[in-house]
Amino acid sequence: MAATHTVIVGSGIIGISTAYYLSLLDTKQEHHIHLVDPASVLFEHVASGKAGGFLARNWFSSSVAELGAFSFDLHKELAGQFDGRKKWGWSQSTVINLDVTGSRKKDSNKELDGEWDWIQSGDSRVTTAGPTGDEESVEHPPWLNNFAGARPLADRTSTAQLDPLRLCNFLLDQCLSRGSVRIHKPALIIAFVKPTSDSDSPVVLIEYQNTLEKVTVPCDNLIVTSGPWTSSVLRSLLPDEPPASFPTISSLSGASIVIRSKRWQPPESGAMQLNALFLSKPMEGFTPEVFSRVGGEIYIAGLNDVSVTPPSPSTYALPSSDSVDRLVNVAKFLCDSDSNKAHGIGSDFEVVSRGLCFRPTTPKGTPVIGQIPLGGGLYGKKFRLWVESGHGPWGICMSLGTGMVLSQMVLGRKTSVDVKRLQP
Ligand SMILES: Cc1cc2nc3c(=O)[nH]c(=O)nc-3n(C[C@H](O)[C@H](O)[C@H](O)COP(=O)(O)OP(=O)(O)OC[C@H]3O[C@@H](n4cnc5c(N)ncnc54)[C@H](O)[C@@H]3O)c2cc1C
Repeated sequence: MAATHTVIVGSGIIGISTAYYLSLLDTKQEHHIHLVDPASVLFEHVASGKAGGFLARNWFSSSVAELGAFSFDLHKELAGQFDGRKKWGWSQSTVINLDVTGSRKKDSNKELDGEWDWIQSGDSRVTTAGPTGDEESVEHPPWLNNFAGARPLADRTSTAQLDPLRLCNFLLDQCLSRGSVRIHKPALIIAFVKPTSDSDSPVVLIEYQNTLEKVTVPCDNLIVTSGPWTSSVLRSLLPDEPPASFPTISSLSGASIVIRSKRWQPPESGAMQLNALFLSKPMEGFTPEVFSRVGGEIYIAGLNDVSVTPPSPSTYALPSSDSVDRLVNVAKFLCDSDSNKAHGIGSDFEVVSRGLCFRPTTPKGTPVIGQIPLGGGLYGKKFRLWVESGHGPWGICMSLGTGMVLSQMVLGRKTSVDVKRLQP
């Protein structure tokens, strides 16, 4: 059987998950998988490496519910198979809803009819979760000082956490060890050349950004997984297609800080409880999300801004000093001891990193996953164009399920879950 060549454009968590499952599932025939990305260091400066890593099984609306649950289970299975707790900090997590300060403010002029509108309206993820549990039963995380108004969310077996950067690097290592996956970075596709005969496939011309060396790769499947850059990548690679054939992917920026508490050292070994903390009312003008991780880091985010747009993907953006100050103020409120607050004698935590990254979003608020039909037969009979993007605030959670389902589609197999409603 002739070899198949698949080119994946973008190596965030969606691209690398797809390469992982495609190379895992297609063991029978020769399948060459190429990942192309302009970043010199993968994952570190994009949402896939800078996100929170919170996973939920059933916090989704109907069109993504099955995919969300399937993907959550794949995360659990992968962590069980490869010691995910040690390798990428996967762990079940309690969820605490903290109802402190401020009053909920809704923008009455905003039209909200998408699936993930809570994020656009500055609200919290907990608005999509199930009912809260009994106030008495909530366990107090040692790093959290301000605990009044805390409630657990009911089912803690259906939420988990991981460190997304470490998961992405694990998937990358697995892909490389299989031999069928090749990474081109820092590199860009500079030309997409149509075939001269109907029975041939197009070829892509890849240029390495540091050496300007060029390689040509045949392309039977082109999978675009370029996060918030997806729309512009599609338009530039296939300029002959009407722009309306492509999904609209926009972006929503998110600033974050990672702190370490001087009052909390995770145990060297043994079980340790992780906490996800969601404030349900605004503080510092936004509704913070806080995650304590296996390595002892505490991740604080929730400060989003649609007006900050992504830079060129070969570089990266930093959060403004105002954003960092607001996140640090949240950390002070939540984590500083009362004596520190009273005497202003410095903080009980240190800030170890600051980040700004961009979620890919769609007008409907749900991802697009599937084949884009092409008119005109310009690219030969074998060629197929695919897209996976727009996962918004849930791309880490839905990554494995998305990668698995799209791989099944590419291989012409029955998909594990029905994603027809997410077709581009
Ligand atoms: C602050 C914040 C916190 C978050 N927390 C969570 C969370 O707790 N749980 C959760 O499930 N999700 C979370 N998310 C959402 C999640 O991070 C995203 O949905 C997900 O990372 C999107 O992955 P991606 O692979 O589509 O895009 P990206 O991570 O943006 O990757 C896209 C890749 O495409 C590459 N690229 C760009 N242009 C080109 C080109 N021309 N050619 C080739 N490659 C190109 C880029 O270099 C990049 O590597 C969070 C997001 C933010 C911003």
